[in-house]
Amino acid sequence: MQEGTKRIYLESPYKVEFEAQVVEKVIWEKKPALILDQTCFYPESGGQPCDKGTINEVEVLKVLEDEARIIHLLAEDISSDKITGKIEWQTRFDHMQQHSGQHILSQSFHELLGAETLSFHLGEAISSLEMDIRKISEEEVENVERRANEIVFQDREIKCYFIPEEKIGSVPLRRPPKKKGLIRVVEVSDFDFSACGGTHVHRAGEIGLIKILKLERIRNNVRFEFICGKRTLEDYLWKNRILRELSTRFTVNEGEILNTVEKLSSDLKSQKRKGKKMQEKIAQYEAQEIIQETKEKIIKELFVDKTPEEVRFLVLNIIRKGDFVVLFGLKGEERGHLILGCSENINIDMREIVPLVSPLIKGKGGGRSSLVEIAGEEIENLEQALERAFEFIKKKMGLDL
Ligand SMILES: [Zn+2]
Repeated sequence: MQEGTKRIYLESPYKVEFEAQVVEKVIWEKKPALILDQTCFYPESGGQPCDKGTINEVEVLKVLEDEARIIHLLAEDISSDKITGKIEWQTRFDHMQQHSGQHILSQSFHELLGAETLSFHLGEAISSLEMDIRKISEEEVENVERRANEIVFQDREIKCYFIPEEKIGSVPLRRPPKKKGLIRVVEVSDFDFSACGGTHVHRAGEIGLIKILKLERIRNNVRFEFICGKRTLEDYLWKNRILRELSTRFTVNEGEILNTVEKLSSDLKSQKRKGKKMQEKIAQYEAQEIIQETKEKIIKELFVDKTPEEVRFLVLNIIRKGDFVVLFGLKGEERGHLILGCSENINIDMREIVPLVSPLIKGKGGGRSSLVEIAGEEIENLEQALERAFEFIKKKMGLDL
């Protein structure tokens, strides 16, 4: 039939253990590699990753195709000429589910929307299909999913057979074959005919549920991410867990969660707006109180239980209500803040203070001539920094004489 390595997986995709003769030992990609007379290992090709497994208990790192030969890259050299190979069944069966599901999904797109499959990638967690589709509605996507899963539920047979190139016209292939000579046809009974060299399940029921997860525009086409079989089950398990959790937390039915979250988010926005207005009001009253209590032109204080924003409001309200210089510090949990302001009528540029006090609190800051803010990590030195600013202002206002 074919020259090169005999591909056992074409006839027997369920076979996991095999014996073979070493035909050649080579170094490939700087690794010891074997070419065998026959193999169960699928080499990476056609959008499907290679199988995992061992040869004489040595890990197979990668399996590649070099024309008709299959190259097995090994973790270490093997001395014997006769080997026993074992492929990892879990990965193989997962690939069979994803790949067979792709055939059915591709044909469902074709049947319902006349769309061609441009490329297929079988990923480790998620597979993708690029389709020549410009636009697609949510309803159309769901119809494609329904049709694909209908084929699965009917448990149609999936047959693989070879047809000579010159007779390929007798098979209604979805896409023309890329290879020459003997063409391998994968038929999902009376539904899809594809020229393909991959590994597939024998019956559509083995694929399990086919689910499209999301789509995105790519170039002028649409790329669909999908999962099949065990992957779909795992996906359903964690998504259902989240829904159940949310439903308990909000004490609503699962169907009501979206409405509840939307309502909460709009409530939160309006609360934030109200909170900000109240903050401004409080700052006005507090400023009034401070002004009434003080006899000085320079007001200095260190706060602990406010936010920087609240202190800023307070400073602004005081300097607008009279001729004051306000030197406020704020001891936060991780950072200290200095918020320093002065009224317009007092001719002092507060920016001059920044380089004087910043090094004390290892801080950075700036602002305009009437208001500066400095934040730094040396919280213990905040008082000292305030004092230094105070001395500077006294000098400027001629109060230190
Ligand atoms: Zn295939």
